[in-house]
Parts: sequence; C-alpha cells; structure tokens
Amino acid sequence: MPPSRLIINSRNVLDLNQGFGGDYDAEVSRRELMIVWNQLEQDEASAFFRRPGDVTAIPKYSKGPKARESMDLWTIGQKIKEGLYKKLTEFMDDCHLMFEHVYHYYSNRSTVYKQAWNLERTFKKAVQPLVDRYGYCCSKKMYYTPVSFSCYKKKDCMIPPGKYFYCHQLMSRDITEYYFLCVNCYNKLPVEGLDVSQTNENESMLIPKTDFIRGYNPLQNPERFVFCAYCKKRFHEVCVRHCSRISEDFICMDCSQVLDQQLDDFSPLELPQHHIANFLQMRVNAKMKNYAEWTDDDIMHFRLVTNAEKIVQLQPLIKELYSQHGISEVIPYKLKIVLAFQIRDNEPVFFFALNAQEYYQDASPNRRSVYIAYLDSVKIFQPSSLRSTAYHEILLSYLEYCKLAKFETAYIWACPPNPGIDYVFNCHPTEQKTPGKKLLRNWYSTMLDKAVERKIVQRYCNILEKVTSDDVRSPHELPYFEGDCWPDVIESAIEKAKKELETGIPEDKNYKPNRRSGSRNLPDDFGNTMAKLLKDIKKNQDNYLYVQIQDRMEVPITDRSKTFMCNFIESRDAFLTYCRCHNWEFSTLRHAAYSTKCISFHLHQLEPQFVCDICGSTNVSWQCNDKSCPEFDLCNECYIREGHCHEMLMSTNISYHDFVKGFYHARICSRGMDCGIYLCASIKKQAQHYVTCLQCASCETFVEMKRKLHSANRTRKNEDEEFSRRKRMRQDA
Ligand SMILES: [Zn+2]
Ligand SMILES: [Zn+2]
Ligand SMILES: [Zn+2]
Ligand SMILES: [Zn+2]
Ligand SMILES: [Zn+2]
Ligand SMILES: [Zn+2]
Ligand SMILES: [Zn+2]
Repeated sequence: MPPSRLIINSRNVLDLNQGFGGDYDAEVSRRELMIVWNQLEQDEASAFFRRPGDVTAIPKYSKGPKARESMDLWTIGQKIKEGLYKKLTEFMDDCHLMFEHVYHYYSNRSTVYKQAWNLERTFKKAVQPLVDRYGYCCSKKMYYTPVSFSCYKKKDCMIPPGKYFYCHQLMSRDITEYYFLCVNCYNKLPVEGLDVSQTNENESMLIPKTDFIRGYNPLQNPERFVFCAYCKKRFHEVCVRHCSRISEDFICMDCSQVLDQQLDDFSPLELPQHHIANFLQMRVNAKMKNYAEWTDDDIMHFRLVTNAEKIVQLQPLIKELYSQHGISEVIPYKLKIVLAFQIRDNEPVFFFALNAQEYYQDASPNRRSVYIAYLDSVKIFQPSSLRSTAYHEILLSYLEYCKLAKFETAYIWACPPNPGIDYVFNCHPTEQKTPGKKLLRNWYSTMLDKAVERKIVQRYCNILEKVTSDDVRSPHELPYFEGDCWPDVIESAIEKAKKELETGIPEDKNYKPNRRSGSRNLPDDFGNTMAKLLKDIKKNQDNYLYVQIQDRMEVPITDRSKTFMCNFIESRDAFLTYCRCHNWEFSTLRHAAYSTKCISFHLHQLEPQFVCDICGSTNVSWQCNDKSCPEFDLCNECYIREGHCHEMLMSTNISYHDFVKGFYHARICSRGMDCGIYLCASIKKQAQHYVTCLQCASCETFVEMKRKLHSANRTRKNEDEEFSRRKRMRQDA
C-alpha cells in the first residue's frame, strides 16, 4: 500500500520553507538537512566517514575492480551549507553513495562495513520525518533480487547474474516472448539463426542471428524510479505500485488527491469468474471457517486464468508402438490454471497457483484422468499457522470438483523443484524453503488420507502398486501427460528394447525374453520394453501417486467453465521469463503486491477470440475483403476445402506474435499456397495483394505489423514511410 502518511502535499512545501532561510526554489530547507546531518556526525560510527580522503579511497584489497563514484560526510555537509540540495532525494542519494562505496569495496566482516551499516541505520531514522513530511515513499536504496535466465538452446544452460547474454524479443498483444542465449551458445549459432519452432510444428521457424541483441544480467539491479507528472517527485515504482504498462504517466498520491484523479484499478477481483474458481472459493473458505485462527479478512479468492484446449504429441517410438493399440498420435486435454489471492492491507496478493491437465473420455490412454502438473505457493499466506491446511483444502476441493465432473482418476508427480527454480511465481521469499522429496510425498499423502476419509476419492497408491495390481503389460496402459516424467522414460525404454531386438545383444546379462506378452497374443511390443520400464517405475515409485476418484463412468464429462486461452500465462517458461525481465518478484509482501497488480493487469488484457465461420477453430487465417460480408473469417483448412466467393486476405484478427511466426516462416517457405502452416498462405497472398492495393483493412494490419517487426529488430528501413510514399505516387499518377 502506498504510505498513508502523506499529509502535506507539494503545494504547501514552499510555505514551510519560508521561515528557514530563503531556499525558495528548494523543496527541502538547509536547516532540516542540517538536523539530519548533525545526527550522522554525532554518531560514533561516523568517524571513518567524516574526512573525504578516508571513505572515498579504494582500499588495497578491494572486492570490486571498478572505480565508483563516492561521497563523504564532510562534502555532504558543505553541499548543505552551500544550498546545493534542492530536493530531499538528492541529499539521500549522496548519503547512499557513501554507504554503497563501503559495501562495494569492503568485506562484510570488516569494521568499516559494520560502521557503515550502523550509520545507515541512524540515517534512515533521522531522515524518516522528512520523507514522511515531503510525501516520499521511503528512504531506502532498493534492489531487485538478482535472477538467472535460462538459455533457450540448452535445458540446463543458465545465464546467472554478472554474465552477458544475447536476446531476441518477439512481441505480441498477449505477451512478449524473450529468447535468451548464453554467449557460448550464441557464438556457436549458425548465421541462419535460432530454430524456435515447436515440436508439433513440422516446418522450422528461424530467428536470424543478427536479430539478437547483446545484454548484461546485472549483479546489482537498483529498483526503478517513477516521477510524478505534476510535482516531479521521485518514487520507487514498487513502493507506489506503479505499473508502467497500465499508464506511462504517474501521478503521486498527494497530487491525485488534489487533482481528484483516480486511475483504473485492474485488480484480480475484477477478473471474470468461472465455475471452477467459484466452486473452489466456496468450498475452501467454508472449510477454513472451522478454524479459530481464521477471520473473514483472510478469505481466499480464486480465479481461473486459463482453460485452454491443448494436445500432447506422442514421441516417435511411442507413436509407432501405440498405433498398434489404436491410440492416436495426439491426445487432447484441457489446461487449467487457477490462481488464488488474499487481500493483505487492502491489496490483493497472489499466493497460490494450480496447474492441472484434464483428459476427457476420448483421450486414451489418459481416459478420464486429471494430472496435477504442478503447484506453486508464496509464503505470505495468513494466518501462517493454517498455511498447509489451506493448501490441502484447495487440493481437496479440486479433487471434489473432479469427482463431480465425472473424472475417474488423478495422477500426482510429487516432484519438488530444484533449489532456485521457480514453477510459477518468480523469486520466492528467502525464508521459504523448498520441501525435500520425502516431505512433499508425506504432504501429499496426508492430503490424500483426508480425501479418502471424507470419501472424496476411493483410494490412492503409488504407481508401482497400481501397475502391479492392474497387471500392466504394455506401456500404453500407463498415462501419458504433457511435461510428465513418463514419456521420456517410456521412449528410452522402447529404444533400448528395440536395439536389443535388432542386435540380439541384451543390455544386461539377466535378460529374459518377454514371454508374458506373447502368451496374451499382444502385438509386438519391441520385446522387453515393459521389463525395462518396470525398473524405472520401481526407482520412482514413491514420487508418483495414483488416485482412484470413482468407478468407471459412462456419462460424458462436461466442463462448466468457459474455454479460453491466455498466451500470457499458459507457457510456464515464457511467463517466468517475462516476470524476470520486468522484475516482477514475490520475494517480499511489498513486491508480491506490486507483481500481483502488474500480472493481473495483463490478465485483464485478454482479447476476444475470433473463430472460423465454418468450423469454429480459433486459428483464423483469412478474412473476406468484400464489403458485402463483413467479419467473415475462415481458418486455413476451411479456406482450402470450401473456398469463398469473394477475395480473401490475411485476417486482421491475428495476434502480432502469430504474424511474426508466420512471416518468418513464409519468407523461407517454398510450398506455395498449399502450405498448411498457420498464416503462411494468407501472408503470401497478402504480400501479393499489397503490391497493387491502395488501402484496405488487411493491408493496414499487414503494414502495421511489418512496421512493428522491423522497428523491433531495428535493422530494416521504415515500411510505413515507404507505404505512404507509394500511395502518394499512385494517387498522383
Ligand atoms: Zn520507496
Ligand atoms: Zn547456452
Ligand atoms: Zn505528485
Ligand atoms: Zn475452419
Ligand atoms: Zn465474402
Ligand atoms: Zn509455408
Ligand atoms: Zn489491400
């Protein structure tokens, strides 16, 4: 919450100054600053800081090599006397410079370091009355938590603070995607560029090497400031919760009261409500009421932020094997992301995220299953004594929802993230510890014991018990979820078994031919796959839980929540990288409140989806260019199959992000108009049409997007100008 101490607004400041010696143009008077300065001077820790030569010198064995600006108490005193400080912030900056110098060059065990630390404490106390009086946010020098970025090229290649990197930004209306490369991987990159196509796209999409810009991941990253558009005072962006995405201009609390201006609040409370979130909210809060520590102020709010139709693609060998069992190579599912927040000091703060995949009756081999892919929480929940209880209730309510929706089974991979790895929220509080495997397993077991006791589910067990009790004989009887541990394990088991079969050399000496599958007359499962798989299952059995919710169901599953996509939060990596690039962190309550505001602003920006007028697909590529049928859109498949009586051009309802992907592809595509890649054909058609068209909606969109792309890459000339020049030429002709 912005400080509530703001009493005196800037207009009164001049009046206050008048009695103190004529600094009419200054915000703060010499006398006021001298009071602070005297307290510093008299502090016993200040001896070292009084003489210019001592503190500003760089010690022989310094930590840092670079010479930095510095300051000392004597010089600050002189500047006050000469009336050089016009603003309180100028004075505070000089004091911070003095402390920072010591923190930078001296070891944190040295006497000087400790003295600086003590003196800074005195400083904060002494300057606080002025900070309050002049309506500043705080007297502190604030830093963002340093973050590591992951290199796109290799999974475990990280770009830690203090390292250089190369980055390319792909902008869209939902989210800017950042492609980071470490210096090493960038140097090895061929000139054609980085292939960023998804695994389920057949064609490649390349970002040229020249489109990457060099950058530095700072060790120390001071928090950004914003300046009030009226009084010009300076504030920490985080302190005043100013999200530059909502508005470039900032007006401080004082001024907005005077001006009677209130900015739109994009609170998560205003986000649309959906069935599942309402269900959780009702159940969970009702349960929490039974606890004495719980108050009405602690109420948890839930919002569904993604409910997207997705597919999992089978890996090549698995595909080959499963096709013999009639399993199709893509498995459809619904991705649900639910965020929970509490209101703390009048501000909403996200503290919990649930990411689940829901597989319907036709999604074999995952028929009627839900996969709880991951949870994330921030240790700011109140009351803290009920934290674990509350998280349990959220999961129990979700399982209850699954039961009512007619799902039969649930799977949980109890896999704690590696230290320093975030699932959803960027930078957790330092005091929040990542649970170990055993602790997490027990935590889930306790939750599931409650679920059995309350008859929400029938039973649960680990994956090995499930495989044994069901007498599973082929991998296709195991679940196959997106991002789960099994797909890779199954694929490599098949690979090994296949190799054995081909070469006739067993991987280990205890090889026994798999007779069981033969006796059941199953098609060839590449020999010993299941035996190999069982080894891995045994190894991982404790970390993977199977939950039987209810007996076999026949009624179809219906989703009572609206289906919608949110590119902004759907991809975990892209979302985290985005948060890191903007320093949206959850390390403290102050940061969490700010980050919640920024994230929820983006969640408010979801634009309505346009659909194909024939099949309802959201992959709209084409739009009719004739005035007689406005808003007629088609997807590429329907356009090729059905055609249309008028000229059709590139749809104007596509995201910039998709345009760039399509554009990069179309540049190198040689398939003509038959190419099935999203937007390829319509962009090609658009490019041809554009040469002769004077002005139409599709051309405007096309030019606008190309302009954005080129200015983003800062390499090519301004298409916009060229367009208007050509237009003028034709009009003249
Ligand atoms: Zn501040
Ligand atoms: Zn790398
Ligand atoms: Zn102001
Ligand atoms: Zn269609
Ligand atoms: Zn038409
Ligand atoms: Zn193509
Ligand atoms: Zn046109």
